[in-house]
Amino acid sequence: MGEVARLNDACVSSPFFNQQFYEKQRIQLHRLLYRLCWPFINPFNIKTMGFDLYGVNPIAPKNNKLEIKALEEQIKKLQDDTELDTADKEERKWALEEKIESLNPGIYFRNNVWWWRPLWNYVCEACDDILTEKDMTKGSYNDGHKISKAKALKIANRLQEQLDNGDVEAWDSKYQLMLQKLPDEDCGVCDGTGYRLKPPKAGAGSIPCNGCNETGKRKHFAQSYPFNVKNVEEFAIFAKHSGGFSVF
Ligand SMILES: [Zn+2]
Repeated sequence: MGEVARLNDACVSSPFFNQQFYEKQRIQLHRLLYRLCWPFINPFNIKTMGFDLYGVNPIAPKNNKLEIKALEEQIKKLQDDTELDTADKEERKWALEEKIESLNPGIYFRNNVWWWRPLWNYVCEACDDILTEKDMTKGSYNDGHKISKAKALKIANRLQEQLDNGDVEAWDSKYQLMLQKLPDEDCGVCDGTGYRLKPPKAGAGSIPCNGCNETGKRKHFAQSYPFNVKNVEEFAIFAKHSGGFSVF
């Protein structure tokens, strides 16, 4: 999983890669896969870049409903338009769908794998009387496990309570302190010696290690898993409006 995430990071950070285009393509692709039959397309569950959560029956905030309806009508009109070519239509449709998504927080939520694990851990801890063991375990896999509307609402309410009473903030402080206290680890590229073998080989050698700047140490692996209050807030809003959600 780490390998794929690293490859993905390398890809996204490449100056030759248009990240916006990539992001749009990715969202569209996932939407398509979701609409089709996921287990049939991906029987071995190959996807490790992050976690995409889709609202089963997203309920827009009241104040945004009219605007969303107008945008949906624009999409319908677009489909009937005979003047535009297919690519043009698709591009305009995406733009309208993006607007709809921004007006309805229950449609979609994403965390990359690093952010998802601590967030889901927190949700499981806070909602251990709402989620079953199966829900908790399946929430760590990308196989489309569904959380019902009733549970999603309970989760949203519980998280909101904990945001309001300061529990999330307290958890965040403890979590950051725990991360700070973790000792550095030996660098895996040079086996902690500061000098490595010639790339692509890893291990102790005679070349100054670029993985650790010759120190032989690097930050503890767990420090790659961030957590903050804002991420919990965003997830609570998604859960509240999702009408139940699936974890892909
Ligand atoms: Zn090293």
